Amino acid sequence: MKSPSQTNAIDFDSAKLQRLGFGQQPPILERPVSLAQLRQQLCLQLQTSLEPQRILGLFFREIQRLVPLDALSYEHKATDLRLEFGQRGHHSISYSLSHEGEHLGELVFRRNQRFSDQEQGHLESLLSALLFPMRNTLLYRAATQSALRDPLTDTGNRIAMDQTLQREIDMSRRHLQPLSLLMLDIDHFKRINDDHGHSAGDEVLKAVATAIKSQLRNVDMVFRFGGEEFLILLSNTGREAAALVGERLRFATQAKEYSADGKSVELTVSLGCSTLLPGESAESLLRRADSALYVAKREGRNRLAMAG
Ligand code: GH3
Ligand code: MG
Ligand code: MG
Repeated sequence: MKSPSQTNAIDFDSAKLQRLGFGQQPPILERPVSLAQLRQQLCLQLQTSLEPQRILGLFFREIQRLVPLDALSYEHKATDLRLEFGQRGHHSISYSLSHEGEHLGELVFRRNQRFSDQEQGHLESLLSALLFPMRNTLLYRAATQSALRDPLTDTGNRIAMDQTLQREIDMSRRHLQPLSLLMLDIDHFKRINDDHGHSAGDEVLKAVATAIKSQLRNVDMVFRFGGEEFLILLSNTGREAAALVGERLRFATQAKEYSADGKSVELTVSLGCSTLLPGESAESLLRRADSALYVAKREGRNRLAMAG
């Protein structure tokens, strides 16, 4: 018989999460499980997330109920995804995952003890639970990545720039590191379009973006800011170092051989550089780089100007 004070309310969210294994867990070794059970449970668990870190983290943790491991690493080159769990081990087994000709990454299991044939069989069977969750997470990743890219120049777009700039400003404050910004604009780009046509102009624009990226270690920090204008974020870079990078970009973009309509095209760029001030907003940092760029244009182009 129920006592009157008993509450029968069920928190469905936490009940469901418990059942799927997200809640408080007893230690792994106290929960023996059969291969079929574990596979079935994994199939349920792994489809609850689109985050590769979460999916593979769960997979790494749960499969150890059958096959103890020291480490798991995963790599999907096409979307620039690399993840590592655990410590390294002497012995390893690698799998290249694919589904209907679509490459879904490389997975490596590691540990200090040799893997038995039975364990290898278990791993292979459990891997099937990863197939659809990984395919979904990679599709999602490709979609979100392309939503943040400029397709013509393969640089970040404005949305990516806004996000990254704010993140970098926060990081710069937290770690007390300098942050600089370069705004780069092609000189007299209109003439290239006028003389050779818009699609030739597009090709030149692409080539300029390639030249910029070739000079930088972190190509994720290059954004197309406007038509023929690029923004480069330089984390942990102070004013003098940023000026050097700016000059390097100016030389590299000028030195490259451009052709439009089969004819060679000469081109120069102008740059404005600003360095984050204490308490400064993203807008102000951008505005100061833009004003510096304006100065570089006014003073004759093909040069770098520093924000005051
Ligand atoms: P300045 O040295 O003062 O920067 O001169 P400019 O001619 O480069 O500057 P302006 O801003 O007057 O012109 C930029 C031109 O860039 C105008 C526009 O037609 C061209 N443009 C903008 N986006 C694209 C694009 O995606 N493709 C092509 N081909 N041209 C573009
Ligand atoms: Mg221009
Ligand atoms: Mg412009």
